[in-house]
Amino acid sequence: MPRTETLLSAFPRASLLAQPTPLERLNRLSADLGIDLWIKRDDLTGLSFGGNKTRQLEFYIGAARAAAADTILITGAVQSNFARTAAAAAAKHGMQAVLQREERVPGMDPLYYRSGNIFLSEILGADAMSYPEGEDEAGADAALETRAEHLRAEGRIPYIIPLGLGHPPLGALGYVQGGAELAAQIGGFDAAVVPSGSGATHAGFLTGVRLAGITAPVFGICVRRDAASQKSRLEKVADALADLIDIPPPFGRDDILTWDGALAPGYGRAGPATRAALQCMAKAEGILLDPVYSAKTFAGLLGLLKEDSIRTGQKVLLLHTGGLPALFAYQNDLGFGGAGAP
Ligand SMILES: *Cc1c(COP(=O)(O)O)cnc(C)c1O
Repeated sequence: MPRTETLLSAFPRASLLAQPTPLERLNRLSADLGIDLWIKRDDLTGLSFGGNKTRQLEFYIGAARAAAADTILITGAVQSNFARTAAAAAAKHGMQAVLQREERVPGMDPLYYRSGNIFLSEILGADAMSYPEGEDEAGADAALETRAEHLRAEGRIPYIIPLGLGHPPLGALGYVQGGAELAAQIGGFDAAVVPSGSGATHAGFLTGVRLAGITAPVFGICVRRDAASQKSRLEKVADALADLIDIPPPFGRDDILTWDGALAPGYGRAGPATRAALQCMAKAEGILLDPVYSAKTFAGLLGLLKEDSIRTGQKVLLLHTGGLPALFAYQNDLGFGGAGAP
C-alpha cells in the first residue's frame, strides 16, 4: 500500500492550516472518568475560528483553483461552519463565496439567524441565498447548480462544493491526512470518538488511521441521522473515498461504528446530555465545545463509557472539530447562567 502522502499527492490542494494541530492530554477529565483521555484540537485549525472544515476545504479549494474558479458555492444549515469556513478560504484565495442557507432547524431563537456563523460570513463578504428545505440534499445541490448557471452566463467561473452523495468526497481527503497526522502524534489508542454528520470526517479519519496501521474502534457519534441510516451513508462515503484514492477499502462494513445515543432531540438541537457535556468539558478543562457537533460527540464518549463500549483504563482519543461560533447563535437556547443585564 502506498504511503498516505503519496496517495494524497495526486490531488490539487490549497494550504489553509498549520499542521499538525495540537494533541493534548486531558488530565482532570482522565482522573474523573478513569480513562487516559486525549483530545485532537481541530478546533485550532486557524482560519476564521477553525474547525474540521478547514482540512476538508484544502482539497475543495485546491480543485477550485485548478479549475480557475472565481466563485465558490456551498450549501448548509443556517449556522453552517462549512459555509463560514468556505467564505474565509474563498476570501484568502481571492474568490467570491455564495452561501446557501437551508432551513434545517425551524423555530429557532432570532439569534440563530443573525449571530455566530451568519455574522462572521457577513464580515467575510460572502453572498447569501436561502433554501426552504433542510432535508433535501439533491434539491439543495440543484439550486446551487441553477445559481452556477446564472454566474456562468455572466462570465464567471463557479465551483460547487456539493452536499449530496454521488460526488467524489474530496473533503474526506482532508481527514485521511488528519488521521495519518494524528497516528504519527499519538502512536496508538484503544478507542477514538469522532462526530459523524455528512460522514466526510468519520470516513476520512477511519481510512487515515487504518492506513496508518491502527486497528482500534473508531466510534462515529451521530449528529444528524439515526445510527442505521448513518452507517449506510458511511458505507457509501467510505466506498467512494477508497475509489477516489484508488485503493481497496481498508476496512470492512463491521468496522463502521455509529452511535446515536446523543442525537435527541435532533440535528442542531442540544438536549440535556449535550448541554451537560458542554459544561463538563468547559469546567474541567477550560475547553469550549459547540452545541451542534463537538458537545454531542463528547456526550457520546460519556455514553459509550457508561454502557462499557469504552472501558476504564483505556486510552481514548476525542476529535474536537470546532464549531465554536455557533455558541453565540445558541446563547439563548442553551441558557447558561444569568442574562448578564445590569
Ligand atoms: C460539519 C461539522 C462536523 C461534521 O463533519 P462531517 O464531515 O460533515 O461529518 C463536526 N463538527 C463540526 C464543528 C462541524 O462543523
